[in-house]
Amino acid sequence: MSINTKYIFVTGGVTSSLGKGIISASLAKLLQARGFTVTIQKLDPYINVDPGTLNPYEHGECYVTDDGAETDLDLGHYERFLNVPTSQANNVTTGRIYQSVIEKERKGEYLGKTVQVIPHITDEIKNRIKLLGKTGQYQFVITEIGGTVGDIESLPYIEAVRQLKWEMGNDCMVIHLTLLPYLSTSGELKTKPTQHSVKLLLEYGVQPDVLVCRAEHAINQDIRRKIALFCNVEPNAVIEALDASTIYEVPLFMEKERLDVIVLKKLGIEAKGDPELTRWKSFLDKLKHPKKEVTIGLIGKYVELKDSYKSIAEAFIHAGVTNECKVKLEWIHSEDITEENIKQKLGGLKGILVAPGFGTRGIEGKIAAIRYARENNIPFLGICLGMQCAVIEFARNVLNLKDAHSREMNPATSSPVIDLLENQKTISHMGGTMRLGSYKCTVEEGTLAHKAYNATQVNERHRHRYEFNNEYKKQFTEAGLTLSGINPDGGLVEIIEIAKHPFFMGVQFHPEYKSTVENPHPLFVSFVKATLG
Ligand code: GLN
Repeated sequence: MSINTKYIFVTGGVTSSLGKGIISASLAKLLQARGFTVTIQKLDPYINVDPGTLNPYEHGECYVTDDGAETDLDLGHYERFLNVPTSQANNVTTGRIYQSVIEKERKGEYLGKTVQVIPHITDEIKNRIKLLGKTGQYQFVITEIGGTVGDIESLPYIEAVRQLKWEMGNDCMVIHLTLLPYLSTSGELKTKPTQHSVKLLLEYGVQPDVLVCRAEHAINQDIRRKIALFCNVEPNAVIEALDASTIYEVPLFMEKERLDVIVLKKLGIEAKGDPELTRWKSFLDKLKHPKKEVTIGLIGKYVELKDSYKSIAEAFIHAGVTNECKVKLEWIHSEDITEENIKQKLGGLKGILVAPGFGTRGIEGKIAAIRYARENNIPFLGICLGMQCAVIEFARNVLNLKDAHSREMNPATSSPVIDLLENQKTISHMGGTMRLGSYKCTVEEGTLAHKAYNATQVNERHRHRYEFNNEYKKQFTEAGLTLSGINPDGGLVEIIEIAKHPFFMGVQFHPEYKSTVENPHPLFVSFVKATLG
């Protein structure tokens, strides 16, 4: 049976950072909790082909999907809320749109026509939007348009939305997320910026159907009626979105405002009963009422911008709930750690996580932190570069290979315990050429990893170029480093641990990408459990 996919667009007005991703994910959650199949897509108006080449300071974390796409961190929210994997098709940038249009032009596919923003770029955008619907898997495709209405670079996207609305009629609707600033001197929420941003949308030919208004204070009926009147929407379609204490509360806020019911009505679907959110609510209840608290240090070099480690922070929230405790993360800059201050900096921590990363900056601080965790029996989890640093630390201080390093940081090292694979040595293009996406890992029975997973075959997502150098395998294992997870196809080392330590584990992959509200990641759950002693 073919399904008639409905398309919901989410645009943003007034300012950026209003949380379109969370609102989209919350609506998707409510629809899913009513038994519908939903997916979410993010369209990013920048010219990078994907965010893989962006520094985390620019754009926060780069989120990796099973199929190896390097994507926007909002896709992480989609997966964490819906517990359904996303893919390359769920994140499209202007760079990718232009890349495929230019490739088609070079192949001669436009048959001598002048290639233009309208219709060629907009057609390509429309195709990308409809691609997910065409899979036949989803009753709803929610498409979040990055940026703010009025930005020059998002114009082709708004035009594509206008055309789709015109073509699809009732199968398509627009939610506009906006801000009602609060003036404390007069004690008022102001509607003018919202009116202006809707006017701008109307200028482009798009009438929003629902306005979701971020506000610091409750929006009374008078304000709702005023906004409705000026913006041509029904008063009940003016939705209040108050600041939430946690993002996981937003679906309940939206349920209270009946966003799902309004959306279904607009799309001509009967809303029967209520969304089934029992598990979600129980998660939220535990999150808000933890029985204990534990402090874990997150050692990284982008700690000033917490979005750089978004999925790790969220995975700790999920794992904390499973352990009925609040994980307090202490964000520690690896460049600030020295042999002299280490005790003072790390002494109060119950667990240490060393974060993923690239390049030399802060590397010695990470290695020092790992040594401290290893020698003081503090639970440790190293992710990707964090695992590589654990290998280097062990090589230097246990195997006594004083010059040990990764070739990424020191190409001339005499002990390259972390090295490039042959197939990475000839790569000249940086974008999309790392070891990316989901790979199999065989977990050795009886190890810490096996206890955590309770499985011998797992799949985890990767994003790195460098690997454990198997030439040193024997030296490491003889000295007490267990290689507990191996990729069955190429023999690459994916997990390391130290049996004699209460919890010491390094993983070459990124477990944080797969942690969701419904499925907290087993390695994070075990790590947090270990920190509780
Ligand atoms: N820089 C390391 C590599 O490329 C680790 C990458 C990471 O931590 N994601 O292998």
